[in-house]
Amino acid sequence: MNISSIINELAEDRELYFNAISPPIAQASNFAFKKVADISKAFEDEMQGYIYSRGLNPTVDILRKKLAALDGAEDCLVFNSGAAAIFAGVLAHVKAGDHIVSVKDPYSWVKKMFDVILPRFGITTTYVDGSTLASWQQATKANTSFYYLESPNSWTYAIQPVREVAAFARQQGIVTMIDNSYATPLYQPVIEMDVDLAMQTATKYIGGHSDTLGGVLSGSHARMKKIFESEYLGIGSGIQPFNAWLLLRGLRTLPVRLERINRSTQEVLTFLRQRPEIESFLFPLDPSFPQYELARQQMKAAFGLVTIILKARERSAIFRFCESLQHLLMAVSWGGHESLALPKCAGISEADFDPSDPLHRSVRLYIGLEDPSYIITDLKQALEKI
Ligand SMILES: *Cc1c(COP(=O)(O)O)cnc(C)c1O
Repeated sequence: MNISSIINELAEDRELYFNAISPPIAQASNFAFKKVADISKAFEDEMQGYIYSRGLNPTVDILRKKLAALDGAEDCLVFNSGAAAIFAGVLAHVKAGDHIVSVKDPYSWVKKMFDVILPRFGITTTYVDGSTLASWQQATKANTSFYYLESPNSWTYAIQPVREVAAFARQQGIVTMIDNSYATPLYQPVIEMDVDLAMQTATKYIGGHSDTLGGVLSGSHARMKKIFESEYLGIGSGIQPFNAWLLLRGLRTLPVRLERINRSTQEVLTFLRQRPEIESFLFPLDPSFPQYELARQQMKAAFGLVTIILKARERSAIFRFCESLQHLLMAVSWGGHESLALPKCAGISEADFDPSDPLHRSVRLYIGLEDPSYIITDLKQALEKI
């Protein structure tokens, strides 16, 4: 489906709400019926109508239909955070005694689920390098039921051969799920690559304004219905109508924001390449990137996040760089209007800081919507302070 049509028209029935261009926020917990027969019918399939907003809600539904189309999936569910979407997607597909193979170092709360929560229910996880199909095959056991991918990740941008892994898993009856937050379905259509469950955090690029959280899980209608009827309704982690409305608003400008961020990132990279304070940088579509060829094959673009490795070997010098930034904000997250910087060493104690490890000297930059020269001028003066 045409992207403009998804964003501007799909699922919008303006005659139902006074022809308002922007849909109303159905800020209601419950919905009334006139006939007992109608409420009985609604109970039969809660995914078909509005009963109670822990299930379906009209504002959320507009968003849901658009996001499913954006993923090229039959259906999707929208959660109140990306973490909730991941949790529901995994939980719905594993049972006691199962084994998961996951790419190493997934998003921190996913790792916590695999390491701390699921073992309580007898579910174990093996982490793999993930860069080759063989690494997945070697870790697969008779009781492996689930593969978890994150390609690229959001710090070192490690990539997995998505199509190959998904094809092998499908042959083996193993369910695959991917965190597609970095590239978004616009630039990496993972459902087309035969992944069963496509997840992205809506907090980042879909929201785009750093004012709400949200998470998307897409796949076949049958899978989404199964999750809706158990984890989604049971945990109560669906998105709230107002937050769904904010995401609808963000969605209107998604392609134009991504194009801008893409162009600005290229300008910032050109600047970074010349800086003597920088040892190297990580960016999936730079020829220096270890998995450059694979990145080119499966991603239409890379943008936004760039990790720089500073030459400075003292923590204090890295602190000085980050604290000298006047416009880039020091914060977690990304995908909003504002450019950001986040030093890895913020999470590493002085005693554990090892300057021989380039990652310890890394700072992740997020390029936002400001004028690129504004970002570059700020980076330049802060690098000079090192
Ligand atoms: C932020 C993020 C998440 C979690 O999303 P929330 O909306 O914050 O719960 C998952 N994966 C990646 C790669 C992220 O950056």
